[in-house]
Amino acid sequence: MRQFEEGVTGIEVAKSLSNSLAKQVLAVSVNDEIWDLTRPIREDAEIRLHKWDDEEAKHAFWHSSAHLMAEAIEALYPGTKFGIGPTIENGFYYDVDPGDDVVITEADLPRIEKKMKELASQKSRYMREEISKSDALNMFEKKGDEYKIELISDLEDGTITLYNHGNFTDLCRGPHLPDTGSIKAIKLLSVAGAYWRGDEKRKQLTRIYGITFPKQNMLDDYLDKLEKAKERDHRKVGKELELFTFSQRVGQGLPLWLPKGAQLRERLENFLKKVQRQHGYEQVITPHIGQKELYVTSGHYAKYGEDSFKPISTPQDGEEFLLKPMNCPHHCEIYKSKPHSYRDLPVRMAEFGTVYRYEQSGELHGLTRVRGFTQDDAHIFCRPDQLKDEFKKVIDIIHHIFNALDFKDYITQVSLRDNEDHTRYIGSDENWEKAEQAIIEAAKEKNLETIIEYGEAAFYGPKLDFMVRDAIGRKWQLGTIQVDYNLPERFDLEYIGADNQKHRPIMIHRAPFGSMERFVAVLIEHTGGKFPLWLTPDQAVILPISEKFHDYAEKVSKFLNNYDIRTLIDERSEKIGKKIRDNELKRIPYLLIVGEKEVESETISVRRQGEGDKGTMNLDEFATYISHEVEYQLSTIDTL
Ligand SMILES: [Zn+2]
Ligand SMILES: [Zn+2]
Repeated sequence: MRQFEEGVTGIEVAKSLSNSLAKQVLAVSVNDEIWDLTRPIREDAEIRLHKWDDEEAKHAFWHSSAHLMAEAIEALYPGTKFGIGPTIENGFYYDVDPGDDVVITEADLPRIEKKMKELASQKSRYMREEISKSDALNMFEKKGDEYKIELISDLEDGTITLYNHGNFTDLCRGPHLPDTGSIKAIKLLSVAGAYWRGDEKRKQLTRIYGITFPKQNMLDDYLDKLEKAKERDHRKVGKELELFTFSQRVGQGLPLWLPKGAQLRERLENFLKKVQRQHGYEQVITPHIGQKELYVTSGHYAKYGEDSFKPISTPQDGEEFLLKPMNCPHHCEIYKSKPHSYRDLPVRMAEFGTVYRYEQSGELHGLTRVRGFTQDDAHIFCRPDQLKDEFKKVIDIIHHIFNALDFKDYITQVSLRDNEDHTRYIGSDENWEKAEQAIIEAAKEKNLETIIEYGEAAFYGPKLDFMVRDAIGRKWQLGTIQVDYNLPERFDLEYIGADNQKHRPIMIHRAPFGSMERFVAVLIEHTGGKFPLWLTPDQAVILPISEKFHDYAEKVSKFLNNYDIRTLIDERSEKIGKKIRDNELKRIPYLLIVGEKEVESETISVRRQGEGDKGTMNLDEFATYISHEVEYQLSTIDTL
């Protein structure tokens, strides 16, 4: 370990190690708190230096860029007031109020960008300043920025820091880069409206999104990836493939599944039902609403009642129902519908249950954030000694599903209790320790790549979450397996043990997809709409070379349909080259070309999307070929 003088700064430490390191380092962690590189360290501390690849460095970089953008906006739009300007997963934004008569649109972004570049090249230093709350209030009152005043009023006295750079001063906790000089590549991305403090009743500010990098080629790569993401945006692809739509008249956030989308979803559900049947699940069906009292008992009313859809009343006085926000309470009542012995457990109950939760209109997004969605839900009621095995079985199911859908790259997160504070969790220490141990062991025995997060568990139990990485490297949260000690307690669930005494079962909630809506969205973004053969709406399109061969095309189609192969015929009178190109764009896996030669020999010429010519096959041969491919995809045996 190296020792340094009191008052040494992060950048000085970096320089003492090597000059090239000092050039790359962007922030420093001091006892796990991110600091400015230029802030003197006055006490013994453990420090870590952060280069670009660390989240901490990106945070300091993008946060400094938000200040730079604010400086540019203030220069171009004097009198602008500023809300908040945080970093996000990719880049940063700032909520600004340029005044009632001024509108900033996307057309203005290049001008702001140019100003930012000009200011960045001045290499202004970011300087930290500590002041009292009253001085801070005075300062922003003079400036007339009511947003900052409101933010400062909420702060505790004596903790206020400002950051100055160039001509700009901001209320800020930091940390920041040493100076603006390292912000070399800048792109402002979009403009949106955002209510002050997320409150629909308050003023709408202008939110400007941007991203910056230390090098131009890094920005180019990012924009390239963004372009690819746009191409596979599930809202765009869903429209092109006629999978789903929305109607303002039906209501925001309520997806309407079109025939091709409905069939695709049905195939997914059937596949999942089959896998679950093999794993001992039983399908149940419950209504879309339930008495308010049901959710008061479950605790969901406290969570969703006020902030979601309001209860529905009936002509009868005092009778109230709630749109189902969760399926679990209904399943608890099914469990209670008969007595259970320890020998009956585990009971595994599955339902594609549609639930409704209110989301603000600004939060809605395609199929990923909706107001009504169908969970691929199931609840397992088991004995404590069965927990680990049940977890392993659920992991098997999820693994099987991911395989069949070509999600090869995923990691899991185990969320455990806060080690220091056990008071905010329900259930005995003993049960928690057992459950946490069971999850960790199950994940290990199934060779999952796992990160463990302390303090991330829900108050009612630990959980295991699955995050998949899609084809262009983005992370998506999908399935979850969650232990629950709370609902069995609230619903007074029991089983009779071998000792003839009453015991509480443990409940496991699990949803490998999360919801059908979210899952189809992620699947589209992952595959760009090129679904696995077993799932895709149309598996083959028949392309007659001219009208003369339409009858034969019909015959081929009928033949394949008899083998449950889904086909289309392209009967347009276009040249075959154009038909091939157009249908490749429709992402249909097989293109079957039929002309003179094929009619005579009762064959088809087969092309595979993205792979080209597969040669001539007779109809039997092709039917077998395609069925084998489907079987192979669906039977991807667990390799765990
Ligand atoms: Zn800041
Ligand atoms: Zn549940």
